Amino acid sequence: MKVSLKTPISQLPRITPKYTKRFKKLGIETVRDLLFHFPHRYDDFTNIISISNLELNKTATIRGEILDIKNIRTFRKKMTITQAIVGDKTGNVKVVWFNQPFLLRNLKKGNTVSLSGKLTLGADSPCFSSPSHETVRPQKEPTHTARLVPVYPETEGISSRFLRYYIKSILLLAEALKEFLPEEIIKSQNLLPLKTALEEIHFPKNKNLAEKARKRFSFSELFLIQLNALKQKKDRQKEKGISIPFNKEIVQKFVKTLPFNLTNAQRKSTWQILQDLEKSEPMNRLLDGDVGSGKTMVAVIAALGAVKNGHQVAFMAPTEILAEQHFATLVDLLKDFDINIGLLTSSENKLFCKNQADSIPKKGFFSAVANGEINILIGTHALISASRRRDLARLAAGQATGGQKTVKFKNLALVIVDEQHRFGVEQRAKLIKEGKTAPHLLSMSATPIPRTLALTLYGELDISILDEMPKGRQKIITKIIAPANREEAYQFIRNQIKQGRQVFVICPRIEKKEESNESNKKGQGFFSWADVKAVKEEYEKLSKNIFPDLKIAMLHGRLKSKEKEEIMKDFAQGKLDMIVSTSVIEVGIDVPNATVMMIEGAERFGLAQLYQFRGRVGRGKHQSYCFLFTESPAKNTRARLKALLTAKNGFELAEKDLEIRGPGELYGIHQSGLPDLAMASLKDLPLIESARKEADLLLEKDLKLKNYPLLSEKLKEFQRMIHFE
Ligand code: ADP
Ligand code: MG
Repeated sequence: MKVSLKTPISQLPRITPKYTKRFKKLGIETVRDLLFHFPHRYDDFTNIISISNLELNKTATIRGEILDIKNIRTFRKKMTITQAIVGDKTGNVKVVWFNQPFLLRNLKKGNTVSLSGKLTLGADSPCFSSPSHETVRPQKEPTHTARLVPVYPETEGISSRFLRYYIKSILLLAEALKEFLPEEIIKSQNLLPLKTALEEIHFPKNKNLAEKARKRFSFSELFLIQLNALKQKKDRQKEKGISIPFNKEIVQKFVKTLPFNLTNAQRKSTWQILQDLEKSEPMNRLLDGDVGSGKTMVAVIAALGAVKNGHQVAFMAPTEILAEQHFATLVDLLKDFDINIGLLTSSENKLFCKNQADSIPKKGFFSAVANGEINILIGTHALISASRRRDLARLAAGQATGGQKTVKFKNLALVIVDEQHRFGVEQRAKLIKEGKTAPHLLSMSATPIPRTLALTLYGELDISILDEMPKGRQKIITKIIAPANREEAYQFIRNQIKQGRQVFVICPRIEKKEESNESNKKGQGFFSWADVKAVKEEYEKLSKNIFPDLKIAMLHGRLKSKEKEEIMKDFAQGKLDMIVSTSVIEVGIDVPNATVMMIEGAERFGLAQLYQFRGRVGRGKHQSYCFLFTESPAKNTRARLKALLTAKNGFELAEKDLEIRGPGELYGIHQSGLPDLAMASLKDLPLIESARKEADLLLEKDLKLKNYPLLSEKLKEFQRMIHFE
């Protein structure tokens, strides 16, 4: 049979359906996938010595003749031990393997073998214990011993040894792969060419080459990401947008009405946005800033500018309550500016017009949007959902479904979306296709993104950052609570509630069992889920045993969004004393009366995430508190949590998370669809920047990639594979 890169793995010799299934678990379905299944580390077995030089507990490789080999059953421990004596010119050594009786089929008396592992102290004498092994054959390079030996991501029934064997047998097929990176980039970045890199990443001649091979693949992933992002960005800059001249007077007038000064960060971001709006190309900007950093204010100024230039603005929030809050905020902020603000949710339509807010029937409401009478339309998920493409497409088409009715805009120039990182590529495409001109887009997020991540995940966006809190914010008293002080904390909480305040309780996960398997699979095994405080349990405990007299509700991701909203609404209106929740609480709800944020199993969350939880309180006039409960006695856990007491802002903490826990733990990254190596490179700012620089240079030369057909093809393949949404 002729094997090519496209050959399904199931057609390789001796791959039974059972194995095909196992391969699938590793994401391997074709020979090509197998070829690109990279080792995550190497065993260094390059220290080849003679038997007499073996030292206890030191990794080494020996070569010798099998002088004796046999299987022994130990009845007491119910084990098979394969026991051998191997000798070279300098001496003999005992070798043992456990529960691999089949070894006898390949390792025979008289064979010359190569063994890599450690000499350990056995029961009676030192022995070479479970070494990696292979028979030495003339002119054959070693695979499993006596070299840097690749160790792969494995699954049950597919060991690294097995993978090495198959990968080595197909490595020749790399010949068929064409280099897609432009030659000039390979040169300027000093990269290994594709084929060499493939050989060296699997079976490296030395550490340096292994490193170089990995760099090449990391670079090419990052390069494709950047190419994709920058291409989008450059294409966008060619689109026709709506230029909104900067109206200095009106902005100044507005800022004067505020009871406070804008922070410098707000000023800078506002300036960046207003400048974008002036351009004739559509803006696509992310405003990223901690909870409470005042993003809404910045958005309002942008909206004001657009409206006063005769345009309409759509403002989207992820939930009804948030939309209502925004409506109230905007009505209040803009009351002296003669602007009509509409709120359209599934349950009500309100219009603020001529200085009063009224509920008006949907029909009149829709025509008021269509004829441009409503200047700013605030919507909810139920209405103009930014996360539901279908809905946004309708919005783009000049319609949105609010209870099946349609909304048409007259001249939409700016779309603001709160609590979302970006508009999806498709959303944007549709917005533009349907309208005559592309509206400016502003998304806002309270998740602080480290710079490397922002460049990688959101490379097509321009980003404004609010890394400074408004002055005079009260400090939230944060305490790490040891198990012994739990009662005291409960007492404190009871007191707060007696005084009329409200409390959030956050727990790590919903149910215990199924999660535990999952987390093991992902290899996040540095803690066990077995003792995780399950929300349900915690809720039972708090509502039945600890605070039976209080009104407590439970919130978690498995509830329908309607149910979630009801609960949040009740909480916001003070009908509940306490909410026990998973991390779903995150979305930017404002409950000024909530003063305690209590977090169970705090060590299980990232710092940036904890920081965000804490930001849910301290929004009103009352002193607020954040209690971090941890049962982990580990010193570094406490040290890590302490960072929360000193950090200046969420960005700092996000960087710290990246540093300490690695990119995999960063909030939101699991859903990002980022390829493995790119993910692993998220700490490597220089590499990310070089990839970006090269992509930029290339697109500068050839935006359509006409002279780079292989790269262009690769990019398309890459775009199909990743889905950054
Ligand atoms: P977020 O960034 O979380 O969306 P908001 O825009 O909701 O933050 O602002 C949080 C609160 O801070 C609001 O009550 C807002 O009026 C207030 N605020 C915004 N900017 C400032 C400022 N420069 N000085 C003082 N308070 C501010
Ligand atoms: Mg907000």
